Amino acid sequence: MPMDLPLVTVSRRGAERVRGGHVWIYRSDVVTADGVPPGSAVLVKQQGSKALLGTAFYSTASQIAVRMLSREALENIGNVLRQRVRAAVEYRKRLVRDTNAYRVIFSESDSLPGLIVDCYNDLLSMQVLNQAMDSETSRTAILSELQEILKPKAIIERSDARVRKLEQLPEKQSGLVAGEQTRTEFQMNGVRFIYDALSGQKTGAFLDQRENYAAAEQYARGEALDVFCYQGGFALHLARCCERVTGVDSSLSALEAAEANSKLNGREIEWIEANAFDLLRDYSDSGRQYDSIVLDPPAFAKTREKRDTALRGYKELNLRALKMLRPGGVLMTCSCSFHVSGNDLLEALGSAAGDAGRPVRVLELRGQAKDHPQVLGIPETAYLKCIISIVR
Ligand code: SAH
Repeated sequence: MPMDLPLVTVSRRGAERVRGGHVWIYRSDVVTADGVPPGSAVLVKQQGSKALLGTAFYSTASQIAVRMLSREALENIGNVLRQRVRAAVEYRKRLVRDTNAYRVIFSESDSLPGLIVDCYNDLLSMQVLNQAMDSETSRTAILSELQEILKPKAIIERSDARVRKLEQLPEKQSGLVAGEQTRTEFQMNGVRFIYDALSGQKTGAFLDQRENYAAAEQYARGEALDVFCYQGGFALHLARCCERVTGVDSSLSALEAAEANSKLNGREIEWIEANAFDLLRDYSDSGRQYDSIVLDPPAFAKTREKRDTALRGYKELNLRALKMLRPGGVLMTCSCSFHVSGNDLLEALGSAAGDAGRPVRVLELRGQAKDHPQVLGIPETAYLKCIISIVR
């Protein structure tokens, strides 16, 4: 028995949450955690009960105080983390196709809370998001295992200053933690992309959309508009099946990367730097028409309170897009807001369809790619929604 792990006791509500399959216990449900050092592995019990709820990571800073690792008493955390890294890699080997860029580790979805690792061809990009994952034990176990099984040329850590501050971790610059290379080229569905680990948003590309890119290519045709295009994920795929493609984003640096990607693929795509809301309003008011439109905005609802405002935003975008689609046109509409559900997005689209007076047929309801697994019992692991539809 790992007698040396400190004990945290939690309320009945916290314990029930865990028994129901979730892996988080909020600080308000922690009853005692006296003297537990930041980022410790701990044993968890319900207050007044002898039975063990399991082993967890503890944070002294986050509102999510306890992140369960197991329902058992774990003996050697380093070994457990290594096994989980191996299991995560095996899972991807079984399910990821047509790409050398994928998410290797997706935090709670891989029972590695607070760790995200993305593979871009021969490079790995890593994010460490809580105290316990930042501990020496965790980092050593994770890094050595990743190096051993994936043999990357380099590993780059992307440090998120906001998260580190919230977790009361010391400031840290993004940079190499192994090897020397920070640039490479990768491919998804046969489309080529340049990867520069030390620039770009998140950890680089939006790998969660990879399977939706391939789906878009099945239906899109004619003149296409990719709104919120970032570095061209959808647009580059659309360029293989459409006659003309325009990508819109408010970030000039994203568009510069998009242009470099289109050159790499030998494609001509028009990139426009604009606020998508303004551009869609101008274009739809002036009667522009398209055969295919992609809407992939940033998360509008970062908190539950923002949900209603977010829904108005989604409706507005979808209404404008529907008005611009020619009969038989294809709309791919996405939301990556956890607080906006798949049904919410369908309703926003339905309400836009009503206002536009355009009957909409739903072709596919899609989510995030399989390397970003959704785990039942942990609703937060499902966040991306993508509806493909055809308007009459
Ligand atoms: N579709 C992209 C990912 C989009 S991420 C892909 O598959 O790779 C969201 C993008 O929206 C970011 O690139 C961001 O720069 C852009 N963005 C955010 N607000 C915007 C606005 N008001 N108008 C235009 N683009 C915006």
